[in-house]
Amino acid sequence: MVSQMPQEEQTKNMPSKVYAPLGTRGREAISIKECLKCGGENTVEVVDFSSNDETSGENILETLDYTVKCTKCEETYVVRVRSMYLEDKKEENRLVSTVFIVENNQEYWLGVL
Ligand SMILES: [Zn+2]
Repeated sequence: MVSQMPQEEQTKNMPSKVYAPLGTRGREAISIKECLKCGGENTVEVVDFSSNDETSGENILETLDYTVKCTKCEETYVVRVRSMYLEDKKEENRLVSTVFIVENNQEYWLGVL
């Protein structure tokens, strides 16, 4: 049984940073609390949230969609976090999380958690 957190709890849980690998130079942290459209700092608010789980063999693929709106330029876009879990949705069973920006049903890879 998967326990569901209340929606307002989830909207606060949007990760603030993702990491983009830079080859041999390690990785760069990208703040996703900054607007990716106008670069406004802390102008992004989560206005909607949805989640979906798919089971594939022993793996659970969790998709979290945070719809965010910038208070400065008023653009709205979706920050999507896809996580793969082995057998159970526990943090220690989390294999990988990938973060995308979704626009016009296209996913644009942003980084990993
Ligand atoms: Zn903006």
